[in-house]
Amino acid sequence: MKIICIGRNYKEHIKELKNKYSSEITFFLKPQTAIPVKNQPFFLPDFTQEIHHEIEIIIKINRTGKFIQKKFSNRYYNEISLGIDFTARDIQDNLKKMGLPWEKAKAFDGSAPIGKFINKDDFDLENIDFMLKVNGEIKQNGNSKNMINNIDEIISYISNYITLKKGDIIFTGTPKGVGKIYKNDVLEGFIDGKKLLHVDVV
Ligand code: MG
Repeated sequence: MKIICIGRNYKEHIKELKNKYSSEITFFLKPQTAIPVKNQPFFLPDFTQEIHHEIEIIIKINRTGKFIQKKFSNRYYNEISLGIDFTARDIQDNLKKMGLPWEKAKAFDGSAPIGKFINKDDFDLENIDFMLKVNGEIKQNGNSKNMINNIDEIISYISNYITLKKGDIIFTGTPKGVGKIYKNDVLEGFIDGKKLLHVDVV
């Protein structure tokens, strides 16, 4: 399986990182080893001084698809959840300056914790409210209605480049409010008030 992540999908987040807006979808990949082994905490890596949290709605692909038309995208996933796209921001900033790929800042072990998956049919996918609490305090609050490209557009677009297969996970981008995490932080992700994700930082 593979993890495909969308970048720059919420205007307010583009602004906070002073990135340029583009209507062209940005994506990058994380390997399967980015998903922590079950129940393991997030181990702060020693190659960075600045890991940021990015809470994101994620979807799980349920069958093989290539050149998927937007109107059929909804047939390619049944379940959604939340994930954190952990980012070594100091490293990413340097890579960006040099015009180099982001993998070193994005794809490291444990960089993609994922929550409990729930059936998508229980939600209005154009109006999913989600948030991240750090040590009980709300740090990120988003709604899928503010995505620049919605889930159907994302699935269709990616499938023009990469064949999607059962079990693949797509991270759909983070809203504003990203920030640094510290040892002993407790991160919790909620969709419509329901807790789906828990990560301890060690
Ligand atoms: Mg992200």
